[in-house]
Amino acid sequence: MNGYWKKLCRVNLTDRTWKEEPIEEATLDLLIGGTALGAKILLEETAPKIDPLSPENKLIFAIGCMQACPNFPGNAKWSVVTKSPLTGSVADSAGTGGWAPAFKKCGYDALIIEGKADKPTWLYITDNNVEFRDADELWGLDSVDASLKIKEILGDKRVNALNIGTAGEIMNPIANITCDGHSFAGRGGTGAVMGSKNLKAIASWGTQQCEIADLEGAKAFAKEVFVNLHEATKDVGGTPSVMVGMEEIGDSPIRYWRGDVWHKGAETIGTPRYTEFLNVKPMPCLNCPIGCHRHIHLDLSGGEGELTGNGPEYETLGTMGSGLCIDDLEAISLANEMANRAGVDTISLGSYIGFLIECYEATLITAEEIGMVPKFGDRETLLFLSEKLIKNEGIGEIFKKGIRGAAAHIGGDAPLLTVEVKNMDLPAHDPRAVFANYPNYATTPRGACHERGDTQAIATGLVYPEVGLEETPDRFSVDEAAPVAVVSQDGALMFNCLTICKFMVKFAGMTISELMHGLELILGKEIDPYELFRVGERSQNLQRLLNVRDGMDRKDDTAPAKLFIPAAVGGRAFQAPTHEEFDKMLDDYYDLRGWDRNGIPTAEKLEEIGLGDFVKYLP
Ligand code: SF4
Repeated sequence: MNGYWKKLCRVNLTDRTWKEEPIEEATLDLLIGGTALGAKILLEETAPKIDPLSPENKLIFAIGCMQACPNFPGNAKWSVVTKSPLTGSVADSAGTGGWAPAFKKCGYDALIIEGKADKPTWLYITDNNVEFRDADELWGLDSVDASLKIKEILGDKRVNALNIGTAGEIMNPIANITCDGHSFAGRGGTGAVMGSKNLKAIASWGTQQCEIADLEGAKAFAKEVFVNLHEATKDVGGTPSVMVGMEEIGDSPIRYWRGDVWHKGAETIGTPRYTEFLNVKPMPCLNCPIGCHRHIHLDLSGGEGELTGNGPEYETLGTMGSGLCIDDLEAISLANEMANRAGVDTISLGSYIGFLIECYEATLITAEEIGMVPKFGDRETLLFLSEKLIKNEGIGEIFKKGIRGAAAHIGGDAPLLTVEVKNMDLPAHDPRAVFANYPNYATTPRGACHERGDTQAIATGLVYPEVGLEETPDRFSVDEAAPVAVVSQDGALMFNCLTICKFMVKFAGMTISELMHGLELILGKEIDPYELFRVGERSQNLQRLLNVRDGMDRKDDTAPAKLFIPAAVGGRAFQAPTHEEFDKMLDDYYDLRGWDRNGIPTAEKLEEIGLGDFVKYLP
């Protein structure tokens, strides 16, 4: 079978053993790999309702077939699937960096981590081999220093490593897994699960070439596409370049989802000022023609030294900038650096701070309890609270179970102020600006997420003519919301099954037809676009089954109260659905998915999409 080793590596940390196991060809045909493969393994190998931080939970890293072509643009992507300590649902996350192609060359398509090490440990995976190493030198290091230390220990700067920062070590439920110090698998606390297993890092370096149908043809095609994508994006300023436009259409959160407009602030923190003020250089992942990651260099005010590292992405600008009304790029960059090094999700971090300020303004919590007088637009609020929340210290302690835990602790009306779904804080895209995000956020298995559905991109021009999406939908249409949510979820999940960075398509303009041609050269068979998107649908269903097995259903597919209040001015003025319209969007979504009106996949649907073997997991 071209494009795969048809093999996974299973590591047991409890007894420090590992072995190779076959992956059936039929499984890879059906699921391709990545997130769908990870969900299948989690479903089959874990019991319902396990504690996410117990040794019974598993961490499954899976890649697809794109890594088999050594230079395919965007193929540094990898998926990780586990049970989330934040949401209790499936955690399906993805990162980039350079690990995935290096891991593929070790001779594997997936890695299962099980058990728990009795002391801090890291793994070094090479050609069909796994070494268990003591992590005494690494434990306590932040994600950037740990990455550098691993390269130093191995004496090889090329080696790629996944690791957790200090937040993962203390099992902060919003901890990330980091790759090479600049790419983060966030949202849902995968880093906390890794920390619970005493696993600090996984370094990989392989040298083997997996068999593919037309190696030379694929490499030549990849090179041609790379040049075109680079040409199309070389003057684009990374994700901060969307800040002004997103605020204009009302998509950015403002004042923890209570504000309507923030034009001047968006101009102050978005490009082009971002690029000039932070002395930005692009920082590409391996095989990336875009380089959306921003490397920044800044002399700090007050002669307090310099800051060199990863610049804040749009999501961070959204939750810490517009979300907190802070137009101080230096402060946002410092908080971002703190979070990146500790390995913490900046979306939730910014959201927690906004929530605390709002609770203080509503007199639900005192300055003494918070440790300061928190204010919107205030640099000190951002920096002081970031540190506390990252370390789960002081006021940060009440967030050990996420925002719902904090709201329950604060009491009163605090739960009504949260903006989350399944305990996952909303990303920096307001559903009132793109209605398709109501059903999308409500039904994303890992909780509210812009990465498992590109609805805002579709609402602003991304089309998939290969599967019938030829026109930009009306972003305020209740009737069009569910169909857009479905196609955008299937597309986004498909990218994470192939494990290719979706920015190749979304940002740089690679067409689905080009992607299919690349796949044909790798796999040696004809690709049908609808079948390709169906892989995303299978992934969505497998993840839904994991949640349903743990008792989740329609009652968990919600929308926060604030998102039913329309704005008075700005790009989404007077727009918000009623609760009845939200229910209709959800009904439409379930109908299109072939689920019942309680959000449970039907046996007929599972059979229809080739998942008949999974009917046994239905309640
Ligand atoms: S577009 Fe960004 S995330 Fe994607 S591979 Fe390139 S640098 Fe990495």
